[in-house]
This record gives sequence, structure tokens and C-alpha cells, in this order.
Amino acid sequence: MQTLIEALQRTADLVVNDFYEELARLPKSRRILEMLSGEELAHLKTRQMQNLLALAQPSLTSQDRAEMAMRVGRIHAIVGLDKEELVRSRGILQELVDKQIGRNVSRQALSLYARRLIADTAWQLKAYQAVQDSQQEVLQRITRIVWEAGSYTHFIDQVIAALAAHDEVTACAIGRPDAAGIFHFEAGAGGRGRLSGSSADSGGGLLDALGAEGHVISVRADHLCGQGAVGRAWRSGKAERVVNYQTDPLVARWRDVAAREGLRSAVALPLAATGQPPIAILMLYSAWPGGFVGPDQVAFVELLQTLLGCAVARLQTHEGMPGAAVPVSVRQHWAALVRTGALQMHYQPLLNLATGRCGKVEALARLRDGERLLMPDEFLFALASDDLLELFARGLHQALADRRQWLAAGHDLAVSINLPPAALNDIRYFEAAREALQTYACPSAQLTLEVLETEAFSMNEGQGSILGKFRALGVLLAQDDLGSGHSGLARLRELPFDWIKIDREIAHLEGDTALDALRVVYQVTRLGHSLGKLVLAEGVDSADLLAALAILGVDGAQGYVIARPMPAAQLPGWIAADEAHEAHEAREAPGARESVLARLARFVVWEERLLMIAAVPGAARDLLKAAAFVANTPLAEALVGLGDVLPAGEAREALQRDLLRALLDGGRESDAWRAARDRLTSAIAATAHETRTPEPMPSHTH
Ligand code: C2E
Ligand code: CA
Ligand code: CA
Repeated sequence: MQTLIEALQRTADLVVNDFYEELARLPKSRRILEMLSGEELAHLKTRQMQNLLALAQPSLTSQDRAEMAMRVGRIHAIVGLDKEELVRSRGILQELVDKQIGRNVSRQALSLYARRLIADTAWQLKAYQAVQDSQQEVLQRITRIVWEAGSYTHFIDQVIAALAAHDEVTACAIGRPDAAGIFHFEAGAGGRGRLSGSSADSGGGLLDALGAEGHVISVRADHLCGQGAVGRAWRSGKAERVVNYQTDPLVARWRDVAAREGLRSAVALPLAATGQPPIAILMLYSAWPGGFVGPDQVAFVELLQTLLGCAVARLQTHEGMPGAAVPVSVRQHWAALVRTGALQMHYQPLLNLATGRCGKVEALARLRDGERLLMPDEFLFALASDDLLELFARGLHQALADRRQWLAAGHDLAVSINLPPAALNDIRYFEAAREALQTYACPSAQLTLEVLETEAFSMNEGQGSILGKFRALGVLLAQDDLGSGHSGLARLRELPFDWIKIDREIAHLEGDTALDALRVVYQVTRLGHSLGKLVLAEGVDSADLLAALAILGVDGAQGYVIARPMPAAQLPGWIAADEAHEAHEAREAPGARESVLARLARFVVWEERLLMIAAVPGAARDLLKAAAFVANTPLAEALVGLGDVLPAGEAREALQRDLLRALLDGGRESDAWRAARDRLTSAIAATAHETRTPEPMPSHTH
């Protein structure tokens, strides 16, 4: 064997040089060699010589040789070397070795060496297969993540974790450009940053490096930093590759940082629904030149792109995505704020429309960041799932502590707090709630949890059962944002809510739609009541609307016209002022005419009664025959509500009769009914112009 080693030492460079010449004749191998810089090729040849010598070393165990071969095989798989050419090239290598040293070395040593070369090839193929298996596993894992995706931030964190665990991916990152076209990574892992071992978010080091000054990434073609893979992919909507950071002139400005981070090649994948412009970009980095270009790799990244594109598009349409990219460093900063006493709960009164009093407040999170008070719309989406749990637990503690203070000041207020959708799958939220109630000796019925579901989630057993546990604990449950697209009607029946909160978009009044908005609110309220639930309208921003809601029978209201969210200390003062104001109003109610909106609300209620009477045709015909429409008959009394809406007189009589007649003759689909109804509502609207008294004082602004 010693002679063999000596012979190899003399001739290894010849063997290797010849070998690479032969390799260059194999089409697929040539493609890979051409991607290397001169320096990289020289390095590769040196490694090959070392390997050839190592195979002959007696000190190396078969275990050592296996490990060495697996390492090389893995690289071959990652750079996409064709399997058949791999096997062929090993034959060529064997021939070259025989040719150079065959004459000087014993047959026995030569045959031993040949067996080791074959074993080496076999190990390489095994490692090759392992990489392919790992691709399949990653795709399966990501398919699951895609199905379960509820929020963008959580989704990208999970995708990054899955990809970073895959051998071929040395680093990966997802991000989006801002309005100026500057690209920000929102999640990432790998690179040298990984070695620093910050567990919360490994990609920090890498992403800081990539996003640092001087390494700005832009998606604009006219920007100096817009020609990288990210920028090109954003504009073309197609996968764009950096085959080798050291040789690709387009990415020269990122050459050094890539080298420092150990990144040699990359692919940028635009994520979008088919045929749509990109929403985000996924970057995959390889530690070897020519990653992500072999046929297996191309198929892999294409599948990945399709899977993730669909998911991101869905998250975007379901508002599960922050409006603007939040760089990883900012996310980390906010997550730290949640944990360091920067969380400040503010409280917005919920008005009980039956009593006119405020007996409950909704706790809303704010984050104090130096001079700024960050609002949930900014930071919420950017928090990872553990941050949200922390936010909930700390927010609840604060709210119950504040509740205790208010109680000491003589105000017994219930507290409502938001539960993120993840809480329905995560028992830790339940435990945090139980623990907090105990700590503050708060009766559980004084706590309401507002649940917002994402459509992506179907209510499975587990979610139902966690809600069931909350119920058994005795807290109240509210379905938040009904009608916003997050929460569906089907859940109303399935889930044990005590309250329904109608989203502010539903009661949003604009011009002609006011009447329809009132109808929807009225019907949802009836539906809620018939299911045994209480109903609250959110986002009430005018006194007129507040009055209209009370007429429609809505149980509660929340909105700026009542009060804006405020710090805990301001609440007792506000309540005292509100109660004084109420008492004052009650004493000298000005008897001012109701607003048009309030009268339209009365009409909506009246219309419903009319429809019910019309459903009994005999009764309706009797009513039409009566001398006066609003006469002193029990049936007509059911309709007196309209008496407050239009001034009494022949005109009103005629409008009402027309409406009922149209309904009886043509039904509610008929044009006649619609026309008669429009005449009546126009008459109501017109009274606003005739008898316009000064607007009644908004009763709850202070
Ligand atoms: P939400 O639960 O629907 O809370 C009501 C939001 O509407 C609050 O915004 C409130 O300030 C705002 N609002 C109240 N009245 C009016 C009005 O008359 N007009 C308008 N335009 N807006 C009104 P905020 O505090 O910015 O909270 C936004 C959302 O963030 C909340 O919507 C809730 O989904 C979420 N959120 C807030 N705090 C927390 C929290 O502690 N945990 C979780 N998981 N989510 C929270
Ligand atoms: Ca809420
Ligand atoms: Ca809400």
C-alpha cells in the first residue's frame, strides 16, 4: 500500500487534471464546472487530490471513508450533478488511476484501491438519495404549513424554519419591498448568523448583514441596487438565480457580504397567485456555487414557489398580512417591548343601550416605544405566536389589576379582552386566563373574551373544546368583528358565544346605503336574539347612529362618539362625567326632533311588522278596509311606530296604504312595492329639510 500512496502522491495532479478534462466532455458536468470561478475550480481539484490520497491511507477507517464520501455525495446532489454522470465519471476516474499508476503498483493494492473507490461511489449515491428524500419531506412539511396558515408572520416563520432544516438550504429569507421599493427581510435563518445562536430568530445576523447599509436591496430597475436576484424576480415575476456570487457581475455589490456569510449561490422566488404580481420574495441560499439549478432542484423550487404563492395570496386577501414589510430587527424590537413593561392597555367603554350606562370596557393593547405609542394595527401582525401569548397574559394581568383599582374607586366594571385566533388551538391561553382570574379574585363572569376567527381555520374538535373549557370556567365569550370577513355566520350557531360584536364596516353609513345598513344591523340583532345572544355594534362614530341603534334594539355600542380608548387612570373620571351628563339629559330632554337616521331606523322596524301582517293576507285586507290606516285597531296599533316618523295627515295615510297594497298585490319582489317603499323613505328624508331643527346634542361626546 505504501508504494500505492507514493505513486499517487507523484501522479495525483495528472490524474485529477485529466479527470477534469474528461468531465468537461460530459454535458451535464460541464454545465456545473462552467459555473465555477478559476479559484473555485483550483480548490475543487485540490480537494479531489486529497480525497484520492485519503482513500489509500491505511489509518482511515471504513467509517471515516464513508463519512468523507457522504459529504461529497451531498454536495454533488446539492449542485445538481446528474446521477448517471456521477457513476460514469467514477468509472473514468478509475481508468485514469489505472493508467497512471497501474504499472508500478501491485495488483493486490490496486484491487483494494478499486474496491474503495467503488464503496466511495456507493456512499456518495446514498447521500445523494438522502438529499432527495429530504426535499420530499420539506415539501410535505410546507404543504401542512400552507394548509394551516392563519397569519402571515406566523406563516413565514414556520416556512423559514422548515426550509432552514433542509440540507440544500444554507440560508433562507422572506421579505417584501416598501413603498420606495427598498426590500426588507421579514423572516430568515441561516448563514453565519446561525452560529451566533440567538434562538428566538436565527436569521438575525445574516439579515442584518444583508440589509445593512451599503447592501441595500431595491426592487426598482432604475435603482443602483435593483439588479440583484430579488429585484429581478420582483419585476419579472419569475425565479431568478445567482449561479455564483463570485462570478456574477450583476451581484458584484453583494459579493463580499455573501462570501462572509458563506453563501455562494441563490435563487429568488417571487410568491404570488398564478398570473398575479408578486406579493413577497423567498430567497434560498446555497453554500455551493450552482445551487438550485440542477433538474431536481428546479423541480423542487418550482413546487415550493407554487405552494407558497397560493398561501401568501390567500393570506393577503384575508387580511392576515401586515400592510407593510416589517424588517426582522423591528419585529425583534417589538417582541422585546411586549416582554419589558412597554405594554400599556387602554380601555374603551362599551355602552349598554338599554340603561345608557357603561358597565364594561374593552382592553386594547398599545406598546410604548420611546416617544411613540404603537397601535395594534402596526405591531400585532408582526408578532410571532409566542409573543401573542405573552401579550395576552400580560394584557390580562394589567386589565384585571386596573379593574381592581376602579372597583376600589367605586366603579364595578367588567372587562373584555381580545383573544387571538391561535388561542383556540393552544391551551396555554386558557391556563393564563384561569391563573389571572385567580390572582385578582375576579368573578369569571366579569371577564369577556373576544374571539376573532380566521376563515382559514375550520372549527375542529380541539378549537370547540378549548372554547368549551373557557365556558366551563364561567367567562363570557364574544364573537368579534362579525361581518368583517373574519367571522362567518355559521359559527354563530355552532359556537357558544354570549355576545356578537357587529363589525364597524357593517354599520358604516354612507349616503344611499344607510337604510340597508340599518336593515342588516336590525336583522343580525334579531338573529342574535333568537339564538339567545346579546348584540353590540362597533365603530359607532355619530350620535345619530347611536340613537338609531337603540331603536333597532341593539344591546350595546362601542365607538368614538361614546369615547375613545383611554389609559386606565382616566376611566373613573370619564364615567363620573358621563353619569352626570346622563342625569342632566334626563332632566331636561329637549324634545328635539329625531334625526333622519333614527326615523329611518323606526321605519325599518315598522317595515318588518308590516311584512309580518302582510303574511296573513286576510288580516292585511281588513287593515286596508279600515277607515284610517293608523286607527284604533289592534293591528293598526302594531304599526303606530311610523306615527313618529312622518307627520300625521293624508299624505302619510296614502303612502302607507300604497305600500301595503303593493305588497299584497305584487309581493316583496315587485317593482310596485319597491317604488312605494322608496316614496315613503324619501318622504322621511325630506322631512329633514322642512323641519330641520338644530342637530340634537351628541349625547356622549365630552
Ligand atoms: P377590535 O377588537 O375590533 O377593537 C376595536 C378597534 O376599533 C380599536 O382599535 C378601537 O380603537 C377602534 N375603534 C373604536 N371605536 C371606533 C370608531 O368609532 N371608529 C373607528 N374608526 N375605530 C374605532 P385598536 O385599539 O387600534 O385595535 C385594533 C385591533 O387590534 C382590535 O380590533 C383587535 O382586533 C386588535 N387588538 C387590540 N388589542 C389587542 C390585544 O390585546 N390582543 C389581541 N390579540 N388583539 C388586539
Ligand atoms: Ca375586539
Ligand atoms: Ca372588533
